[in-house]
Amino acid sequence: MFIAANWKMNLDKKSILEFTKSLQNFKFSNQINTCIFPPMTYTDYLYNLTNNLPISIGGQNCHFESFGAFTGEVSANFLKDTGCEYVLIGHSERRTLNNENNAEIKSRAETAINSSLKVILCVGENLTDREEGKALEQIEKQLNDCLPYNFNNSFIAYEPIWSIGTGKIPSAFEIQEMHTHIKKIVYRILNKNINVLYGGSVNVENINSIIEINNVDGVLVGGASLKAKDFLAIYSAAVKHLNISS
Ligand code: PEP
Repeated sequence: MFIAANWKMNLDKKSILEFTKSLQNFKFSNQINTCIFPPMTYTDYLYNLTNNLPISIGGQNCHFESFGAFTGEVSANFLKDTGCEYVLIGHSERRTLNNENNAEIKSRAETAINSSLKVILCVGENLTDREEGKALEQIEKQLNDCLPYNFNNSFIAYEPIWSIGTGKIPSAFEIQEMHTHIKKIVYRILNKNINVLYGGSVNVENINSIIEINNVDGVLVGGASLKAKDFLAIYSAAVKHLNISS
């Protein structure tokens, strides 16, 4: 089970210090992998504050080139150098606000993996596609276009765009159907089994009903991961779920 926390452009140094203080006496479980994606400027700061804890650090994006004249971009090598083990690629906010297309996302993921980062590749349909019954088709296209040949030790995050930050989530049936679909497509393309995380308005109230859905291997949490108390409550719900189902 994987719990990923995407802080986006939130939490400064002082808030990160406060957050990590709340983690120090918490009993982490070896059944859960967890990764926090802080703002890029704080990856090594968070890495140093958590190096006694079973928490990985990730970057929120990386460029498809490893170095050069790309003002404002971040290299996968630099993420690695500042303690990152993971990187998010193709988050819908990057696709929409930074015009990242499928081809670019594919090369960003490929470069990240060649730099020994583990990728969480985000895919998700918009509301029109969902309402018109085209969600499965849309995700299949994204996977066909974005999956690099070297997709090792990596994950897919299914994040319906209409669910991110809105409080709306797909039904349990829709989540299960999509996660099963994604696993089948990745198997067909790469001949490998992959873990799929669900992301979109996950919070303390709905976590129990989401993690019990078949083929949900973890969650990617945005807004609800900004408070240590909520992040740990989501983590604890996952531990409880594993203990009940084992
Ligand atoms: C996200 O941005 O990856 C996300 C899942 O956000 P939220 O949990 O706030 O919907």
